[in-house]
Amino acid sequence: MKSFDVVIIGGGLGGLSCGAILSKEGLGVCVLEKHSVVGGCLQSFRREGRTLDTGMHYVGSLSEGQIMHQYLKYFGVIDSLRLQKLDENGFDEFHFKDGTSYCHAMGYENFIETLASQFPDERSGLKTLCKTIQDIGDLISPEILLEGKLSADGIKYMSESAYQEIRKHLRSEKLRNVLAGNCRLYGGEKSVTSLYEYGMVTHSNIQGAYAFVDGSQQLADTLAEVIRSNGGEVCPNSEVLKIRLESNTVEYVETRDGERLQGKYIISSLHPVVTFSLLENNTVYKKAFFTRINSLKNTHGIFSTYLLTKRGTLKYVNRNNYMFNTQDVWATEGHYKGFNIPSVLMCMQPNHLSEHTEVVTLLAPMPLTYYQKWLHTKVENRGEEYREFKAEFSEAVIDFVAEFYPNIRSHIDKVYTASPLTYRDYTATPLGTAYGIVKDYRNPIVTHIPAKTRISNLLLTGQNLNIHGCIGTTVSSAVTSSEILGVEYLSKKIGNA
Ligand SMILES: Cc1cc2nc3c(=O)[nH]c(=O)nc-3n(C[C@H](O)[C@H](O)[C@H](O)COP(=O)(O)OP(=O)(O)OC[C@H]3O[C@@H](n4cnc5c(N)ncnc54)[C@H](O)[C@@H]3O)c2cc1C
Repeated sequence: MKSFDVVIIGGGLGGLSCGAILSKEGLGVCVLEKHSVVGGCLQSFRREGRTLDTGMHYVGSLSEGQIMHQYLKYFGVIDSLRLQKLDENGFDEFHFKDGTSYCHAMGYENFIETLASQFPDERSGLKTLCKTIQDIGDLISPEILLEGKLSADGIKYMSESAYQEIRKHLRSEKLRNVLAGNCRLYGGEKSVTSLYEYGMVTHSNIQGAYAFVDGSQQLADTLAEVIRSNGGEVCPNSEVLKIRLESNTVEYVETRDGERLQGKYIISSLHPVVTFSLLENNTVYKKAFFTRINSLKNTHGIFSTYLLTKRGTLKYVNRNNYMFNTQDVWATEGHYKGFNIPSVLMCMQPNHLSEHTEVVTLLAPMPLTYYQKWLHTKVENRGEEYREFKAEFSEAVIDFVAEFYPNIRSHIDKVYTASPLTYRDYTATPLGTAYGIVKDYRNPIVTHIPAKTRISNLLLTGQNLNIHGCIGTTVSSAVTSSEILGVEYLSKKIGNA
């Protein structure tokens, strides 16, 4: 049986960044990925010679001196990534059916002044709300790392409501919606989303939002290279089917090929429900635990419509565009052409060879009721009715966007789609949830999953621990790795990189 210091299950951002940290710090690691390609939601795929991204369209805090930049500098990959800074005067633009539109600009002063130019009476409320957002973002700043901590205590913000906080500072209903306009980026829900999650995501983008030029796969590939160059192994086509326990310790993990691997530590980056379903010979966790973990709510899935444009016809626009069918950005219901489409996020793929974009991605939340009847099917094998449903839904999404961009159809060469079922089958997320477990401010302790488990050598990581996304998942990988390396040691290593 092969034996390692650390065996990591899952080669998405969570598993790869744990592998990069632990291999850099001298441990022998092995990352097991079920797919033929690593990356999970970072994966890009090719259609008609173009690069399409699955689940990483833009990332915040990437300017020098900011937290994501600092992590990527520590990994040793920052200089090899091809990144494009989004428009400083409007990295996100929010469009409403009444013809109004508003921008989130980069830098706090710019952010406040841009919105205050449209809502002059709200300048002071914008300032106080921004102060809170900044305080939240600073909980994981590079300065905190130098103090020997990965994060300052955020429980206060985890137990408060994002929606209520925004209401407290601003009087205009429209501006309140504009401030929460990015809530689709984290599956935000009015009644549950925490101020912590809102603040982390919003702060990072106000600081410095970037898109990957030619796809986010480059981040997965460079992290895999880091692991290999430090003597670690990254093994695609290695789906883990069993985590075998002996008393309260993992004895080995077993892959689909029947290979067994031992580790002093096992780290799983899979959704906790999936991780715990793989346990064999479990005497540690009782039925009540499984009932509780299985009952945690997950965010909605995403239906992605990829428009492959007629080459050289559509100028790249250096910002993301959110379009709403309702005045309430938190709404989960928005009737449109027979489908529930409350909002669509449009991201253009930057391309290093051209000022035109070759791929436009349209992201729309999709309710489970729409795809429930195909839950038993597998990718590429779901039948004609499913194909028709996907075609109809994507047509409705394009019509929706055409109400804001009337010429969009004239630029389309081909359309590809991915439903929450596609995400489920590729990344093994329960029911194709896009962002994992909903972090509920009314129950923060239960909905923020800890890295440590009651199994002595099993740790968890990935988007379900802290918050989802590039930054949340990367910070979680440091939190998990610090259980092995020590918090103070690791924080200072990252902070001083
Ligand atoms: C549509 C969409 C858009 C998004 N947009 C953004 C964005 O713009 N910015 C942002 O910051 N975040 C975005 N996110 C969120 C971000 O992509 C995720 O939070 C993050 O990539 C999750 O990383 P992870 O490693 O936790 O999980 P995953 O990426 O899901 O990785 C898990 C890995 O484990 C593998 N695996 C599963 N089961 C097994 C098994 N049994 N054995 C071995 N391997 C297994 C999977 O194949 C996968 O590679 C988006 C997500 C989605 C779905």
